[in-house]
Amino acid sequence: MQELHTDIVIIGAGYAGIAAAKKLHEAGRSFLLLEARDRIGGRTHTQQLDCGATVDLGAQWIGPTQHHIWKWVKETNTGTFDCYDTGKNILAWKNKVSTYKGTIPKIDPISLIDLGLAIDKINKLCKQIPLDAPWTHPRAEEFDSMTLHTWMEKNMFTKKAKHLFNIGVETVFAAGAHEISFLHALFYCHSGDNMEALISIANGAQQTLTIGGTQTLLKKIAEPFLDKIRLNQPVIKVVQTADNVTVYTEDSKVVARKVIFTLPPALLNTIRFSPALPQRKAQLLQRVPMGAAMKCFCVYKTPFWRKQGFSGQIVSDTLPVRVTFDCTHQDDDYGILLVFVEGHNARDFIEQPESVRREKVLQQLVGYFGEEARNVLEYKDKCWTEEEYSRGCYAGNMPPGVLTQFGQSLREPYQHLHFAGTETAMRWNGYMDGAIESGFRAAEEVLKN
Ligand SMILES: Cc1cc2nc3c(=O)[nH]c(=O)nc-3n(C[C@H](O)[C@H](O)[C@H](O)COP(=O)(O)OP(=O)(O)OC[C@H]3O[C@@H](n4cnc5c(N)ncnc54)[C@H](O)[C@@H]3O)c2cc1C
Repeated sequence: MQELHTDIVIIGAGYAGIAAAKKLHEAGRSFLLLEARDRIGGRTHTQQLDCGATVDLGAQWIGPTQHHIWKWVKETNTGTFDCYDTGKNILAWKNKVSTYKGTIPKIDPISLIDLGLAIDKINKLCKQIPLDAPWTHPRAEEFDSMTLHTWMEKNMFTKKAKHLFNIGVETVFAAGAHEISFLHALFYCHSGDNMEALISIANGAQQTLTIGGTQTLLKKIAEPFLDKIRLNQPVIKVVQTADNVTVYTEDSKVVARKVIFTLPPALLNTIRFSPALPQRKAQLLQRVPMGAAMKCFCVYKTPFWRKQGFSGQIVSDTLPVRVTFDCTHQDDDYGILLVFVEGHNARDFIEQPESVRREKVLQQLVGYFGEEARNVLEYKDKCWTEEEYSRGCYAGNMPPGVLTQFGQSLREPYQHLHFAGTETAMRWNGYMDGAIESGFRAAEEVLKN
């Protein structure tokens, strides 16, 4: 077994790990970054398809208030383009197809008011949740004792509005409203400005894409310290003494003064700690499941739906195609439609053979855009629940009772161990921007000690 010595070990080369490494590199500190996969990027994964189109199988969008990642975009001279948001959106509901403009579909006035009021209430309530300590809100216990679904049943009255609200929830959390604590949902909305920003393209989390992809952007940031990154090194055990900490992979051990973890809680829970983590932290790690989402890319010769006046956005009550976006790159010839399948639908969908998934997606798109939708140059989908070192996405979601009982141990260091990762972020928790914030914060913690 190879033995290495360094000052600080970072575990995980996603956005959080690379952010921590950047800070340490700039401070001139000695560090090593251990990554389980054979690539950096974690939940970002840019891939060139056989047809030549480049797609982000993981994270892709940047919102206007995500300042950390915007700084990196500028620093690396990465080009960007806005997500196409012109033309008619499609609402497919009870076998009828109608069109609308803007974020909220055109529905009957009663359902529209119901939906608008619910979003408004959430936007107002979420602003009151302290981002550094949601569990200190005077109504934290009450909000954390119910799911988002329970709140919805108490505060919404029309079937259609509830259904559309649920589709919005699945799009944001990759989980059903019944799986998430209402307090977590409020915190998450505040963390990302508000619910409207989370579900919107213009002025929202889906506004901008990067040319070349988000993993490519991360690679540019990591360039100055690539020699410090060791790939194919899944960490399996961490042993602390009074003086130092030893991190074990299958074929090496690294002795250091400090360790920064950037794994989501569900994955941190797979590592053996000696001594064991404090009971509250250990229990927290058992309680933050990852969401489930599939991205299905349909690449065409051109974005033909634009000629028909469509934006490429669909909201539908039929499976598998529930929500779509036009992700066509500004300077490319290809037309790219992105279909999301989320929550329990993603878990069911992935169990079908790829040929069946492809056929079902294309068949549904033909129903909205005509036969041209069948003529894909390439279909590519990816389910993140199958990835050993992610086990789901977009992020870990807190069920009821977790934030109030265990929230305070999220970021709390334990002896030589420090904790980052987007799930520990205050702003843009669950997003790349939150991951960067968390990596910077953890690096500052170790630099102070
Ligand atoms: C399909 C999808 C779409 C998304 N869309 C968006 C979007 O549009 N915009 C946005 O901002 N965010 C989006 N996200 C969320 C975003 O990807 C994450 O918030 C962010 O990338 C998390 O970064 P991280 O560094 O905290 O965690 P990760 O990226 O998960 O990094 C953790 C790293 O640790 C490694 N690791 C795991 N176990 C071990 C181990 N035992 N030893 C060593 N290394 C280990 C992993 O391989 C990984 O590289 C999306 C995510 C997915 C999957």
